[in-house]
Parts: sequence; structure tokens; C-alpha cells
Amino acid sequence: VSVRFSLTYLIDGCKGLVLVDAGMPGQTRRILELVDTSSVALIFVTHAHLDHYGGAAELRRCTGAPIAIHRADAGAMARAKTPLGDVRGRGRLARALMPVIEWAMHPEPTQADLLLDDGDSLRDYGIEGTVLHTPGHTPGSACLLVDGGPAFVGDLLSNTGRPHAQRYFASDWTRLQESLDRLKARRPTIVYDGHVQGAISGDVLERLTFV
Ligand SMILES: [Zn+2]
Ligand SMILES: [Zn+2]
Repeated sequence: VSVRFSLTYLIDGCKGLVLVDAGMPGQTRRILELVDTSSVALIFVTHAHLDHYGGAAELRRCTGAPIAIHRADAGAMARAKTPLGDVRGRGRLARALMPVIEWAMHPEPTQADLLLDDGDSLRDYGIEGTVLHTPGHTPGSACLLVDGGPAFVGDLLSNTGRPHAQRYFASDWTRLQESLDRLKARRPTIVYDGHVQGAISGDVLERLTFV
């Protein structure tokens, strides 16, 4: 589901829907039009940037579903922050604009219900899936890996133009590279990023290099 600037994915599990990311603040109507609010099992947030957690608190109020995020990003989400880390290229423009974006979007301080760790299973929420901690873009960036299937990777990768690793924002560029290697090692069949519709195939992921 395209929610203005970013994407929310709906994974149909055996206990209802697992939402991956929640979009910008104020953009939940598009998601709520598509879901039965009683059928949402979990709101999985890939990382603490407002374009990914911004709608999470409102989605929780409407669905009753818990919000999960890796523990290393929970504090930033609770303080409604969007830490951009070291910025390169056009990331500098985003950093310059961030005070205005935060002022305009009013991200809501959002306490997590579930603090995730690497390797956590999502079976209790109805999908055979695992949390893969992939720090680097932010300290607590995490992917949702469906066992033997797709990976939902937030901003670790991007499919703008042609697929590439995150190249604008990093809390730690070295760890970002290690995280890309960790994702490759899990050999997902297909990869979905946080902003651009259109998946990245497992074969393309295999050939991606960090630049
Ligand atoms: Zn993003
Ligand atoms: Zn991000």
C-alpha cells in the first residue's frame, strides 16, 4: 500500500494481517480502508524514522494490534525522533529539511509493545517469519524474513532507479555493509524495500554491492 511517501506491506498470516511499517503521520486512512480492523495481528516497524513509524500509534488505536520494533530503535520512536546519522549526497537536503518536516508532520511519540531481537520468531503473530537485525541505517533497523520466502527490508536497500544499498543515511556505514551481507546470506527469494513499489529478486540481491 502506497502511503504518500513510503510503503506499508500487508502480510496475510494465519492469525490475521501483519503490517510492515506504518507510513508518515496522518496517512493511515489508506491502510484502514483496506483492512478489517479486527484482523490486524501485528504492526512491525522496520526502524525509527517517521516515514516508517509515523502512523503506527494511530493504527494501534484503530486495530488494537501491538507495535513491534527492534529494541535499539525503540527509544527514538518513543521520543518521536528521526535520527539520520551521517548523511551523504542528497541526504544532506533531507537533514536540512528535517526540522521543518517534523514541525509539519507532528510525529507522535510511540511506545513499542514488543521489543524485538535478532532471531525472534513471529510465529505467535501468525506467520512463519524471523526478525533479522540489520543495523547501519539506524542502530535498530530490522528486516522481516518470511521463512523460505520474501524479506521486507525497510531502508536497508532501495529500488529507486535500479536496486542499490542505502547510500544517503547511516548511523554506521560499516555495519550497514555487514547487514547487507547478513541479508544476502539468508537468501530471500524476493526483497521489498520501504519506499518503491516493485520487488528486488533474490538473484539481483545476490549481485548487489555496497558503494
Ligand atoms: Zn524511509
Ligand atoms: Zn529510514
